Amino acid sequence: MNYKVPRGTQDILPGQSEKWQKVEEIIRQLCQVYRYQEIRTPIFEQTELFQRSVGDTTDIVQKEMYTFKDRGDRSLTLRPEGTAAVVRSYVEHKMFGQPDQPVKLSYIGPMFRYERQQAGRYRQFVQFGVEAIGSKDPAIDAEVIALAMDVYETAGLKNLKLVINSLGDADVRAAHRDALIKHFEPHIGDFCSDCQNRLEKNPLRILDCKVDRENPLMATAPALTDYLNEESAAYFEAVKKYLDVLGITYVVDPNLVRGLDYYNHTTFEIMSTATDLGAITTLCGGGRYNGLVEQIGGPESPGIGFAMSIERLLLALEAEGRSLDTDNALDMYIVAMDDQAKLKAVELASSFRAKGISTELDYASRKVKAQMKSADRLGAKWVIVLGESELEEQAANVKNMELGSQEKVPFHDLVNYLTKHKVK
Ligand code: ATP
Ligand code: MG
Repeated sequence: MNYKVPRGTQDILPGQSEKWQKVEEIIRQLCQVYRYQEIRTPIFEQTELFQRSVGDTTDIVQKEMYTFKDRGDRSLTLRPEGTAAVVRSYVEHKMFGQPDQPVKLSYIGPMFRYERQQAGRYRQFVQFGVEAIGSKDPAIDAEVIALAMDVYETAGLKNLKLVINSLGDADVRAAHRDALIKHFEPHIGDFCSDCQNRLEKNPLRILDCKVDRENPLMATAPALTDYLNEESAAYFEAVKKYLDVLGITYVVDPNLVRGLDYYNHTTFEIMSTATDLGAITTLCGGGRYNGLVEQIGGPESPGIGFAMSIERLLLALEAEGRSLDTDNALDMYIVAMDDQAKLKAVELASSFRAKGISTELDYASRKVKAQMKSADRLGAKWVIVLGESELEEQAANVKNMELGSQEKVPFHDLVNYLTKHKVK
């Protein structure tokens, strides 16, 4: 039997995992300065939570969820996205009662969707996302967008495009919905069966269809922006003004609708314009979801958030030919010539590591030459060779592999010496 990773999943191996750590570090740091505190929710939730919040007519709920019965006959689902669980937790823990609103939360972790595998589309992928719940100040919309942009820019991406739109409020959606039905109904026979179902249930979703995206009726469909009432239009204008203040460039796309049911007012996507990225260009999606908290059983608490996958961020970096500054350097390799020397090597390694000096040694009883080769392959900055004479003198030659120089240092001074010279 040949075992393989399940379709749509991947192993992240050394060499690649350093990049993940670097991105996670950038994210942690930015969340700290923007003040989005981390929340960790379970990997699975009651199925109904997603049906109610993500929406019964969405692709996610209709065909992408990993749903199973547990031994107690409860229907559970591996989380396909993060917002539903965060909002559930906000309600369950009565965070709406906290004195400082909005509550600003961030999460990072695996999500699961049964999708057709392709580049940038996995069945298990890691999303980083934030939610600001409890405010409808347009400045928070701009802040959330700014944070997403900041993550990409800090990671080194240059070819970015921010697309924004407003879905308006419930009244706007209702008027637009009628117009959409009128627009598509006479020709609905030309559309895929999913779209035919969407016509009555949720015609807005037709605009998000991946099958019929080239149909000319898409481009001529009534635009939400033409249906915005005064309040929604003013809100959208305010968000744009804050983006201007932040120096964030954007494009308004009146046909930008997002794949989840709970959005209203501000929606946005960040795309990569790198040419090598292939079919997948959307890196991040987000928007406002006033009403979702109520739907999940809490009091009226307007919210906004976004989600991005780390996989697509890394793909975009690759497409732009950029590498992350990963820090995986080996400081010291200790070569031991015999068993006595090995004892000393183990002892010294421990004292180095205690001071944050990364240290490697041989665990395969190899000859000195092979150990030296290993040190070279691993890119060690320094090497010391321990043998009979070093033990006798209680001192070793510290070889600097970059400079090709060496210096004799007594054992008791090694930690000091290395710490002093570690500055990169
Ligand atoms: P798409 O239109 O590409 O299917 P979506 O609308 O389903 O995206 P969201 O649910 O808004 O995406 O998720 C937000 C982000 O999560 C996406 O912009 C993308 O970065 C990432 N993402 C979504 N699905 C996947 C997946 N299957 N594999 C990797 N990343 C994903
Ligand atoms: Mg999708």
